Amino acid sequence: MRSTACAAALALTAACALPADAQPPAAPLPDAPVSAFLDQCEGKEEWNDPAPPFHIYGNTYGVGTCGLNALLVIDPEGLVLVDVGTQEGAKLVADNIRRLGFQLSDVKWIVASHEHWDHVGGVAEMQQLTGAKVAALASAKDAFEKGRHNPIDPQGDAEFPKIRVDRVLNDGDTVSVGANVLTVHATPAHSPGSSSWTWQSCEGKACKTIAYADSATTISSDDYRFSDHPDYVANVWRGLDAIAALPCDILITPHPSASAMGERLASGKLEDKATCRSYAPDAKARFAKRLESEKNKPE
Ligand SMILES: [Zn+2]
Repeated sequence: MRSTACAAALALTAACALPADAQPPAAPLPDAPVSAFLDQCEGKEEWNDPAPPFHIYGNTYGVGTCGLNALLVIDPEGLVLVDVGTQEGAKLVADNIRRLGFQLSDVKWIVASHEHWDHVGGVAEMQQLTGAKVAALASAKDAFEKGRHNPIDPQGDAEFPKIRVDRVLNDGDTVSVGANVLTVHATPAHSPGSSSWTWQSCEGKACKTIAYADSATTISSDDYRFSDHPDYVANVWRGLDAIAALPCDILITPHPSASAMGERLASGKLEDKATCRSYAPDAKARFAKRLESEKNKPE
C-alpha cells in the first residue's frame, strides 16, 4: 500500500524505489486534526451530516459522520474499517478514507458493531467500492445476509442492503491485517448480534487499548415487554457484563453521543478511564429500571 503522496512522488522521481533488501519506511500517519471535526460538527449530530476524518490515537482514525462513528485502523499492509453507517453515509466514509490519502482498495476487512441499518446500511456498498471482505459474528450473520434485523430483536423492522459475509467469527476471534489485531467480543445487549471490538494502537512505545464498545441501550417497540422473554433478558445481562469487562483505555461508541465523544474531544481527554468504567453500569441501571417499569404495566 502506498499513500497518495508517495505514489505521486514515485511518478515524478522514483523516490519510493528501494533496494531489494531494504524495509520500506513506515508511512507517516495522515494529519487529521480533531479541531476540524469539532468545527464542522458543532451543533450537528445527524447521521448523515458530513464530517472530516479525525485522529483518535496511534493508527486509529474516525472516518464517519457527525452523528455516527466509523473507524479506520491503519497498517502498511492494509486497512480495517469498523462500521460504515447508513447506506447514504457510505460515500461520506469513502470520501474520508480518500482524504486520509488512501485508496479504497487499501481496505482489506470491514467489520461492524450490530445488525441495524444505521451502522451497516452502507456495508454492502462499501464492500463493492473497496473489494474488502466482511467478518461478522455467527449471531449477526443471518441478519447481515438477509438485510434485516433478527426477528427476536425487539426494535423496529428496518431493512438494509444485504451483506456478503466472508468470514464467520466466534466470541474472542481476531481479524488481522499486518500488525493490527482486532478482537471481537460478543456483547448481545442492544441486539442479538451485537459485537464490540478491541485493539491496541501505539504512539512510539505508548500503546493504548481502543474499545469500540457497541451500543448498550435496550429499547423496543411500544408493545414489547422484555419480561416476557427471559432468555432474551438473560442475553442482555450477559452482553452488558461483557461490555463491562472489555479492556479499555479509549472508549468509542457507534453513536458518539452515547459516550460524550464530542465533549471528550473538545476537552482533549478522549482517553478517560471514568468513561470506560461507567458505560456498562449506566446501561445496566437503565435496563433494571425498564424491567421494573414493566411490572407496573398490564400484560
Ligand atoms: Zn441499533
